[in-house]
Amino acid sequence: MTSADLPEPQVRPSDGVPGSGGLVDRHGRTATDLRVSLTDRCNLRCTYCMPPEGLQWLPKAEQLTDDEVARLVGIGVERLGIREVRFTGGEPLLRPGLVGIVEAATALSPRPEVSLTTNAIGLARVAPALAAAGLDRINVSLDTLDRERFKQLAYRDRLDDVLAGLAAAQEAGLTPVKVNAVLLHGVNDSDALPLLDFCLEHGYQLRFIEQMPLDAHHAWTRGRMVTAEDILEQLSAAHELTPDTEERGSAPAERWLVDGGPATVGIIASVTRSFCGTCDRTRLTADGQIRNCLFAREESDLRTAMREGATDDELADRWRIATLAKLPGHGIDDPSFLQPSRPMSAIGG
Ligand code: SAM
Ligand code: SF4
Repeated sequence: MTSADLPEPQVRPSDGVPGSGGLVDRHGRTATDLRVSLTDRCNLRCTYCMPPEGLQWLPKAEQLTDDEVARLVGIGVERLGIREVRFTGGEPLLRPGLVGIVEAATALSPRPEVSLTTNAIGLARVAPALAAAGLDRINVSLDTLDRERFKQLAYRDRLDDVLAGLAAAQEAGLTPVKVNAVLLHGVNDSDALPLLDFCLEHGYQLRFIEQMPLDAHHAWTRGRMVTAEDILEQLSAAHELTPDTEERGSAPAERWLVDGGPATVGIIASVTRSFCGTCDRTRLTADGQIRNCLFAREESDLRTAMREGATDDELADRWRIATLAKLPGHGIDDPSFLQPSRPMSAIGG
């Protein structure tokens, strides 16, 4: 099939697409923040994300090449109004071409903000090269400072590598370094305070993320989730928290000043205080599928279209159409809610 054979996009004229404009959906939201998963593989096995035995990895042929990633990110930025690009995975540091991909993204015009979400294993080695490539910021996932619990949670004894990676990111000027933590009942639910004190001491910005039903083994239950309220209660026992009045915009984290500030702590309460109404995200998976939501049950295949010869205009139109269909919310509380078939590691968190 050639690009001329690609099906005409099925859009009503009133939708204002195809042809021009940004990534607008039918509920008035515009996506300007692109999450790009660079691989579905990972060197950890965080229980809320991946089973201990790993998953069936994407075949290499189905993964976008570095050039294909750069082309799609370019279309997003230069034609569709993407202003922020975050590389994630799986574990993005496992992607051999990462530094070149970051370089390509930071060379775009208008220059997007480019960041990385990582477990930080190997970051100590590559942080200076990432900074030199223009990377603006980094988010490191760290759920506990206790070595045994780290092993229990992630099935690997790598806490020291993560801590070294964090320090290297700070050293390389990839600041503010943010730390993401997910708490699990009965595992690391007593770690909120040690994590906050560690981040205050090192100048890292801590954000807790409520666990979402995106685990590969579909074991999530709302009743066993550590909620934003639980976390606030724990932190308030030792620190004075006051709501940060700075405009939140579409940022998913609610923030509190710690002991009067300037340090803050954030909570991304995706489940109990959903922020779908202001969502500005769009997602590209490692195999070239556009997802308009973490919880989307449908994807739009840009990889096949691209490999069959679609032009940049045609790819941009497909992306616009995929965005139009974005649902108003994730529906986790809806009795008919169905967890997406891909787990978080294969979508890109
Ligand atoms: N491997 C990298 C890392 O861990 O930072 C990037 C990918 S990971 C999927 C991105 C983020 O998603 C991490 O901060 C992780 O804690 C979070 N995450 C994974 N599964 C989750 C879940 N079920 N609920 C909430 N957050 C989750
Ligand atoms: Fe790997 Fe990140 Fe998932 Fe942990 S959360 S298993 S580090 S992809």
